[in-house]
Amino acid sequence: MNRPLLSIRKASEHNLKDVDLDIPHGCLVAFCGVSGSGKSSLAFGTIYAEARRRFLLTLESLSPAAVRGLRAPRVEEISGLAPAIAIDQDRGRQSPRATVATLAGLYDFLRVLFARVGQPLCPACGSPVNCHRFEEVYETVCGLPEGTRILVLAPQRVGPDGGPDGAGVSGVGGSKRVSAAQDRR
Ligand SMILES: [Zn+2]
Repeated sequence: MNRPLLSIRKASEHNLKDVDLDIPHGCLVAFCGVSGSGKSSLAFGTIYAEARRRFLLTLESLSPAAVRGLRAPRVEEISGLAPAIAIDQDRGRQSPRATVATLAGLYDFLRVLFARVGQPLCPACGSPVNCHRFEEVYETVCGLPEGTRILVLAPQRVGPDGGPDGAGVSGVGGSKRVSAAQDRR
């Protein structure tokens, strides 16, 4: 299979000596070598630095001074460069659930994206889940036959001491009131 390549020609950042390299996209690639052999100079100082520089140059809000401050890495040519994310090595201990997305801060944007653009579907019947106005809910409930059991759920407000704040928020089933629980203390 012919993958597009990230091609680097004559990289000479820091201690790199005119390194030519083709890296296939869509693969997990590791740079190995003894300390000081230029792994970081290649990954961070060349590939990521150039990707970041190209990204920043697309921003219209960048001031001319900031543009002049963007030094290009010492490399003759880089082609096939995709948008890049760099995660440095000294980030301390991360939670086992940490991913590239959480470490890079992308996860929060993804959550917003899915919340805004996604259409939630009912897992049982597949119909779209929508917001209902109060009037719609009221009319639906009033149209049910007499004696129908319904379940009313609401978030329970919690006061600063960790207990209920007595604001009269109802619990499950509309039968238990938070304020009633507070009276017994
Ligand atoms: Zn359903």
